[in-house]
Amino acid sequence: MKTVRLPDGTNLPALGQGTWMMAENPQRRRDEIAALRAGIDLGMTLIDTAEMYADGESERLVGEAVAGRRDDVFLVSKAYPQNASRSRLPRACEASLERLGTDRLDLYLLHWRGTVPLGETVEVMERLVNAGKILRWGVSNLDTDDMEELVAAGGQACATDQILYNLTRRGPEHDLLPWLAAWGMPVMAYSPVEQGRLVADKGLRALAGELGVMPAQVALAWLLAREGMIAIPKASTVQHVRENRTAADLALSPETVARLDTMFPLPSGPVPLAML
Ligand code: NAP
Repeated sequence: MKTVRLPDGTNLPALGQGTWMMAENPQRRRDEIAALRAGIDLGMTLIDTAEMYADGESERLVGEAVAGRRDDVFLVSKAYPQNASRSRLPRACEASLERLGTDRLDLYLLHWRGTVPLGETVEVMERLVNAGKILRWGVSNLDTDDMEELVAAGGQACATDQILYNLTRRGPEHDLLPWLAAWGMPVMAYSPVEQGRLVADKGLRALAGELGVMPAQVALAWLLAREGMIAIPKASTVQHVRENRTAADLALSPETVARLDTMFPLPSGPVPLAML
């Protein structure tokens, strides 16, 4: 499995697992846990969740999936912006730890920017690191100007920016991706198959068919070819997890990349970062 290096030197698998929309249907729970465990077995040991997902139930499901193998995984969770303050973040973090059944998060992210000053969030994140509750922190859905403000407010230790980035969302290539690369911060691409919409794309299906692979694999391989890029597809079947894992070993030829560039062109100029 290709790895990506965090600013503190930690190596992460470039392909992880998302969990949004998991734990919403009790009838799917067993399959979702089986999918996450299969992913861990295949080396997709980075698992992304959030206090928001299924109102905390996604964290509980992840806790169940990783029970007995906590040290094998890299757990990422995210705090609501309204919880990212001095008074509320420690409590939100404790609640996430309790639901996940662990004593520390490997990475804790600000889910998106709210009204709490970024400098205050940085300060309390650093305190959580010092207390051993989290091993590192980062952000999500912050565009270049927000990132500038974050580092100016003391946030140089930010480990990553988790953003919407895939073949149909290439705006960040103009500004945010080069900015993050210059700071040595990897990108965590969420909704890497555009919540399943890319899998249904006619052109991508045709191209994947010619290559003898699945469309999700092309979309993921395209992302993973980029230096410093982590992708966190959500898959709730073992079959999808296996397909996605194979994408990490799929090298796209320059001709295929050129065709993808034509099918999913780069916007002509910077566009504000979108979020889902
Ligand atoms: P996604 O991963 O792009 O797409 C998930 C959808 O694609 C599911 O319907 C899944 O179906 C399907 N899928 C996955 N692998 C497939 C395959 N090999 N073949 C066919 N279909 C496949 O979308 P996402 O869940 O929005 O994003 C991924 C993760 O990023 C989330 O789960 C969450 O952890 C994170 N995220 C973060 C933010 C943020 O604001 N920070 C926002 C959105 C997402 P099945 O479930 O049936 O397998």
